[in-house]
Parts: sequence; C-alpha cells; structure tokens
Amino acid sequence: MSKFVLIGSGLAGGLLAAFLGRRGEEVELFERRPDPRAGNTVGGRSINLALSTRGIHALEQVGLASEVLAHAIPMRGRMIHDRSGALHFSAYDRDPSKYINSIGRGALNTVVIEGAQRYPSVRVEFNQRCIEVELDAAAAHLINAVTNETSVARGDAVIGVDGAFSAVRSSMQRLDRFEYSQSYLAHGYKELTIPPASDGSWQMEKNALHIWPRKSFMMIALPNPDGSFTSTLFWQFEGRPSFATTNRDEDVRRFFNEEFADAVPLMPDLCQDFRSNPTGSLVTIRCGPWFYEDRVALLGDAAHAVVPFYGQGMNAAFEDCVVLDECLSAYPSDRKKAFAEYFNRRKENADALADLAVENFVEMRDKTASRVFRAKKKLDHTLEGWLPGTYLPLYAMVTFSRIPYAEAAKRARRQDRIVYSALGALVILIVLLLVSLLTKL
Ligand SMILES: Cc1cc2nc3c(=O)[nH]c(=O)nc-3n(C[C@H](O)[C@H](O)[C@H](O)COP(=O)(O)OP(=O)(O)OC[C@H]3O[C@@H](n4cnc5c(N)ncnc54)[C@H](O)[C@@H]3O)c2cc1C
Repeated sequence: MSKFVLIGSGLAGGLLAAFLGRRGEEVELFERRPDPRAGNTVGGRSINLALSTRGIHALEQVGLASEVLAHAIPMRGRMIHDRSGALHFSAYDRDPSKYINSIGRGALNTVVIEGAQRYPSVRVEFNQRCIEVELDAAAAHLINAVTNETSVARGDAVIGVDGAFSAVRSSMQRLDRFEYSQSYLAHGYKELTIPPASDGSWQMEKNALHIWPRKSFMMIALPNPDGSFTSTLFWQFEGRPSFATTNRDEDVRRFFNEEFADAVPLMPDLCQDFRSNPTGSLVTIRCGPWFYEDRVALLGDAAHAVVPFYGQGMNAAFEDCVVLDECLSAYPSDRKKAFAEYFNRRKENADALADLAVENFVEMRDKTASRVFRAKKKLDHTLEGWLPGTYLPLYAMVTFSRIPYAEAAKRARRQDRIVYSALGALVILIVLLLVSLLTKL
C-alpha cells in the first residue's frame, strides 16, 4: 500500500480519492475551503455544470453514477432564444435517450467526497491550504485557514488536484524544462439567477440548455432541481458596451432589455445579481510534463484548464481519474512509469479539448443563431442515421462517446472534408444537369 497526499477536493479530488481508496491505497486529501456539505452553493451562489458520458462512465467505475444522477436534470438539446424572443429547439442527438445532465457543483462535490470517505483508508481535511510542495520528498506544506497553524503532509506521492491556479503546479514550474502557458479570453463571465415561478416550477423549458446567442457574446441558462436556472453571461471585459462600461443599474437594465428582452421579466434580482456577483475570467492552461519522478502528478484543471464552452472540463478531469487508475494497475510496482503513461495518454487529448472548447465558443455565441447551423445539425443527424457507426457528429463524439478527444477532432475534420466535397460534387452535378437540359430546350 502506498500513501497518496491529494491537494484539492474539488470535483476531481474527491473522485480520485475514491479511485485510490478502492485500490486500497492510503489517501490524505487536503482542501483549502470549508466542508462543502453545508449546502449546494459555492461562494453563496448555486452553480451547475453539464455532466455527460465520460464523466458518468468515471462515476460508474466507483459506483457513484446513480447517486449523482439522482440530483441531475436531463437537458435534451439547445433552446435558442433569438432577439425577438422566438424559441428554436435543436436536439443534441438524433437518439432522444442521449442527453446531457445539469448537476449542481455542490451536490456533485458532496457525493464524490462521501463516496471517497466510504473507503477506510481515505481521510479528508478541510481548511488546509497547500502553500508549496517539496517535490523530491513528496511533502506538501499546509496552512490551516482557521487556526493559521502550519503542518507538513508526507506521502509516497503528492497529486495536485487543486484546480487552474494549482499550488502543486507552481512548485513544479521551478523544474528545469517544465512547459507552461496560459491564455485568457477577452471575455469574462457572470452568473445570474432565474428564480422558480411562485408555484415552484421552472419558468422556461426545464429539459434544455438555453442559449441567447448574440454573435460576439451570449448568455446561457441551465436548470436546477429547485425550479431555478443559473444563467451565465459571457461578455467582453473591455469595449463599449462591456463589463467595464456597464456599472450602473440603468445601464444593466438597458443592455438586458436590448439583448435579452424575454429573460428580463424572469430575473427580478438582475441588477443586484449583476452588482454583487463576481466577474470571472476564462483561461486555458497547458503544461507538461504532468508528473515528477514517481513523487508528484497533476490531474484535472491543475494539468489542463479549458474554457467551459464544450461542457467538458469536469468530464475530462473525471476521465483523467479513470486513465490514471488504469495506468497504476498496468504498472503496480513502477509509479513513475504509471505517471508517464497517464501523461502520454492524456496530454494530446487535453490539448485537443482546449482547442475544441475555444472553437465551440464561436459556435455557441454566433452560429447557433443561424438557420444554416440548424440545417447542418439536421444534416449531421440524417447522415448519422444513414451511416450508423460510420458518421458521428463531432458533438456526439465529444459528449456521448469516450472516443479520445484528439481522435474525435481528427475524425470530424475528415468527415467534414468528405461531406463538403460530396455536397460540392452534388451541386456541380445538378448545375451540369440543368445546363444540359436548358441547352436541349
Ligand atoms: C463558468 C464555468 C462553467 C463550467 N461548466 C462546465 C460544464 O458544464 N461541464 C464540465 O464538464 N465542466 C465545466 N466547467 C469546468 C469545471 O468546472 C472544471 O473543469 C472542474 O471543476 C475541474 O475540476 P478540478 O477538481 O480539477 O478543479 P476544481 O473543481 O477547481 O477544484 C480544485 C479544488 O482545489 C482546491 N484548492 C485550490 N488551491 C488549493 C490549495 N492551494 N490547497 C488546497 N486546496 C486547494 C479548491 O478550493 C477546489 O476545491 C466549467 C467551468 C466554468 C468556469
């Protein structure tokens, strides 16, 4: 039995602890925040995420999927709100049994932490912030957020599951030839609330992910089990108008009335939410290698933070847990080899996902509004029906399959080339036929 010190008990930390606990490893998990079991809120707000096939598969491996899905709301497609308030529904898949799940971050966090704690070899401590890791010693230096007491947790290996601004990764960044890059979008995000109707029901279609695409920006909303929706405005930090220039309540009201008129009557606390909720930034982080000897490794956002537009960051982090577990099984007595294999299998896929996620922002905020987009989705579904198992839309490969992200991206590019060439050839054929018919007249 080895001892693993895990830093960060966010979404992936709890799940990884469950995987390691199942292996019979000793696990000490340290989280800088207080115990999330106080409620389904993070920072005073309810935040939800889309959970799909990869994440569900990972949860199934440790027997937690049905517990998590009990808290989820199926979202069967995109509900597009155009400027006039007209609605257009576009299903995610031709098969109605394929959908994504809206799940509260707090509820999910609680299930995975409790799942991990069922293993007697797993111990979780809250209010413990890691300040640095001694890489060669696999020792994490901690400070208690309540008492300010410092301590050192030693193990055979430390795993950084401490999110995009990972302290474990910061310690690794001092290593020679450690690659690191971060890139911010010009857009930030702000979460707002659409409360339940007076009878507790949802004020919009509950089984959909709502999108208000407005070309250079957008708002989305995901349903919560309590009848509310959490909506998120993705908007430029700078420029006119932008987060920077919209501070007064009247500016907020004017902007929303112009852009999201149908949502305004559903958001009674709009101005107060806008004022008091923080504006978050959107970052892509790439680094490598994700391990140091057999002593330290990174997983989840700590290794590869992506922007949220494919709804895959958490799903990918959960998939990391499955792959790391498989690699530890493949090399039970050589942890360095296991870490190296895990990095080799995941890095290319994390990079591909990072690109897909940025590209999908353009699709969501701009293309979903167009008839051409909706026609392309219908064509995708038709081709999938005609060529089952051969033609798979990119969205379906990313969301409803476990095809590695890099392979999905390559396959989609290949499919697009074939389909567009075939369509081009068809158009040319039709034109030639018409010309020959006209010349015979
Ligand atoms: C607006 C938005 C929407 C998103 N929507 C989706 C979605 O729909 N679907 C999806 O799959 N993904 C989504 N994501 C991405 C998803 O949130 C992340 O990929 C996921 O949370 C990563 O999990 P993690 O455990 O690696 O990191 P986190 O969930 O960030 O957890 C890291 C944990 O480490 C703790 N920590 C940090 N530093 C320290 C330290 N020094 N010491 C101790 N503890 C520390 C933190 O408190 C936290 O609990 C979204 C992200 C954003 C920003």
